Formats: sequence, structure tokens, C-alpha cells
Amino acid sequence: MVITRFAPSPTGHLHIGGLRTALFNYLYARSCGGKFYLRIEDTDLDRNVQEATEAILKAFEWVGLEVDGEIWYQSQRLDIYKGYIQQLLDEGKAYYCYMSKEELEALRETQRAQGLTPRYDRRYRDFKGTPPSGIEPVVRIKAPLSGEVHFKDGVKGEVCVQAEELDDFVIARSNGVPTYNFVVTIDDALMGISDVIRGDDHLSNTPKQIILYQALGFKIPNFYHVPMILNEQGHKLSKRDGAMGVMDYKALGYLRDALLNFLVRLGWSHKDQEIFSLQEMKAFFNPKDLNSAPSCFSPHKLEWLNSHYLKESPLDTLKALLKDFSLPNGFHALSPAQQDILLEALKSRVVTLKDMAHEVAKVLTPPTHYALDKLKNKEQALEVLNALVASLKAQDFSSPETLDETLHAFMQSQGLKAGVVMLPLRIALLGEAGGIGVKEALFILGYQASLERLKVFLAL
Ligand code: GLU
Repeated sequence: MVITRFAPSPTGHLHIGGLRTALFNYLYARSCGGKFYLRIEDTDLDRNVQEATEAILKAFEWVGLEVDGEIWYQSQRLDIYKGYIQQLLDEGKAYYCYMSKEELEALRETQRAQGLTPRYDRRYRDFKGTPPSGIEPVVRIKAPLSGEVHFKDGVKGEVCVQAEELDDFVIARSNGVPTYNFVVTIDDALMGISDVIRGDDHLSNTPKQIILYQALGFKIPNFYHVPMILNEQGHKLSKRDGAMGVMDYKALGYLRDALLNFLVRLGWSHKDQEIFSLQEMKAFFNPKDLNSAPSCFSPHKLEWLNSHYLKESPLDTLKALLKDFSLPNGFHALSPAQQDILLEALKSRVVTLKDMAHEVAKVLTPPTHYALDKLKNKEQALEVLNALVASLKAQDFSSPETLDETLHAFMQSQGLKAGVVMLPLRIALLGEAGGIGVKEALFILGYQASLERLKVFLAL
């Protein structure tokens, strides 16, 4: 069975690179009826892990990637790790190293001076003497002295590291706390993880983890190291490229489906398809299709996808989502039909929910200035609007369709072309020459407010 995991270190908010990793692991498990676990790597107790953990879980809840079973917390598993450290010590596969920090630094200095790569010289590997007093030892693994460590990465291909390039790295610090590579290995093995998809910033950790798998006699999972996400200039993504935190995107009014669709295409493809429902992603995802070239973060593409998903969203969904964005009171005073027409008119015109809320407020607030420069013949415009005001009746406002009929009848009776009526009418109602349709605007504002706006305009 395919068992994957997402293993964030709670050092801050969940950012989009992390969410992409989570998504790939989630989709792989879901694509083949496997399991997807969440493991919080919270062994670094100095940091504000509690808050960061909560932020990660909140973001996870928003994006809706369901996790199987309980969440795993490394901070609750320290005894398990210590047991395995002891096992390796007992089996002679690991050893105490009593070298002080100063000694290690001095060794490195000498090596550097000789033009060598600084590296621990394994002086305690077979140490049988009396340990120096006053030193709390670290525990080091006995890494192979010759040969090579290799594995086949699902993205990078064959990865091979010569034994000389690896030293006897530390697996437990002098305070007894196991190191990062050690706990990752233990957990992945005990959780039965079959496939690890993660950022290629972890590629250099993998040979060390393989040494540990071998020392512990654990089955080695399949690895897929995906290239980083780059910005459009080809540099590592940074805050300057826009929001980084997943919840920042929520606050900006992006839809979770758009964000997930956007992220899945950063490093993965399926034919030429660009738009994927979550259902399709689950059906099609295969790590074999992960790209080995870095992917490029295009804010425009995200905007395009968000517009698409907004347009496709049912009105009830939009109404529910807009609750997180401050809509003006005027919106709540509208009838359900008016609300629907307004949202329907806006949903194909905006990029985000935030824009949408802004546009709602704009429609419902009387204009403070008018695009008069767009009017070719102002006198005629005033004449036409005066005549229209005189002919509009409350019952015309029962639906956009009746308004449409009324406006057509008016144009016909006056012998006027549409442009001569619609443009001044739109400017008088909304202030602008563009925007939602005129009959929709009239319907949303209703008889009273429409007439009021027209009168204010005519009085100018
Ligand atoms: N905790 C690591 C991180 O947040 C991930 C470890 C892994 O995926 O192996 O980068």
C-alpha cells in the first residue's frame, strides 16, 4: 500500500511550497487508495512551536486535505527515538564521541588550512579507553568507510554519494535529543511510509537517512525530490514575489480549489490539461509525472485560475465564502434575487473574493463622480434621462427582464438607439462607463434608489 506523509517543521506559517509538497503526497495516497499522514516535526523546543503548529493545522483545514488517522507529533516520541539510539549503541553501530566543540573547531581549522574538506576524523569510532571527564558525549553513527550510498530518486534519477564524502554524523546531541535525520528515518520507518515526496533541499539528507535505514534494518522508501518553485526571474521564491503564507491567499480572496489547482501544476503535469478538479487530481496524479525542471510561479496564472473558479462557483458557495469579507450592510438589505443578480454579474468580472466584496460596495454606494468625458452629447443625455425618469414605474423593476422590456419600449417610443440611452443611464447610476449591465444595475438598486441616483445626476 502507498503510504505518504507531510512532515512540516513548525517554524512559521504553512507556505505555498509546503502546501505543494503536502498536496503531492496527499494526491498520491488518494490516487491509489493509500494513506496520507501528517507529522509535526516539533523537536526543536526552543521555537514557538505551539503557535506555528496551530497555524499549520488551520491552513490544512482550509485547504481540505484530509489526513488519515491521528496527527503524529515528534515531541511525543522522544522515548522511542532514544530506544533506537540505545539499540544502535548496543549493536556497535553507533558510538559516543567525546570531542569538545573547541576540539572539533580546531580540527576543522587544520583541515581547512591543508585544503581539505572539514570533517570529523572518526577518532572515537573504535575508542576503547577511558572517556575524558566533564564532557557530555554526542552519539555518532558508524557510516560506511568505503563504497557508495546510492538510491534511485523518482525525479532526479540515480543519486550516488561516495562513502568518503559522508562522515560519522551525529544522531543524538549531548543533551540526548536525537537529530533531525535520525527522527525522520525512525518515524518514516515506523509509520510505514512507502513514498516520500519532498523538496530537493532535502536531497543531501537522503544518503544519511539511507545509512540509518540500513543500520536499523528498515525498508527504504521510494524518494521523489521535487525542484524548488522559482519566480518568473528564475530566482528562489521570496516574500517579494507576493504572499507566501497559505492563509494570506485565503485573506486575499483566493479560492482553495484555485490555489490547489495552481500548485499541482507547479512541478507536475498531465497531458496539456490546466484545469483540474480535486477529483481529477486524485484520479490522475502519479509521481512518475513529476517534472525534474524547476517550476515557475506565475501570479497571473493564479489570478486566471481564481477567476475561472469564481466564475464556476454556485452563488450559494460564493455567498458563504463572502462572509469572510466585509460586505456593506446594503448588501444584506437586498432581496435574495437582487443579491443573486449582483453576484452573478460580478463573478465573471473579478479576480478574487476581495475584489468581489469591493465591487459589491461600489455598486451599492452612490457615485461621487461621473465619467462625463465619456458622453459625446451631454445635452442629449440629460434630455433622454429626464424623459426616462418620467416614464419609469415601480412595477418595471420586478426583474431584469421586465426592465429590459421597459427600456426597449422607451427607446422605440422615442426613436432612440441603445447607445444614446444606455451609456448616460449607466454613468448616472454607477458613475462609470463600464461595469455590470444596466438592467441588472437598475434591478439591484430598485425603483427608489435608481430614481434617486438619476435625479442626483440630473440636478448636477
Ligand atoms: N520537516 C521537514 C521540513 O519541514 C521535512 C522533512 C521531510 O519531508 O523529510 O522541511
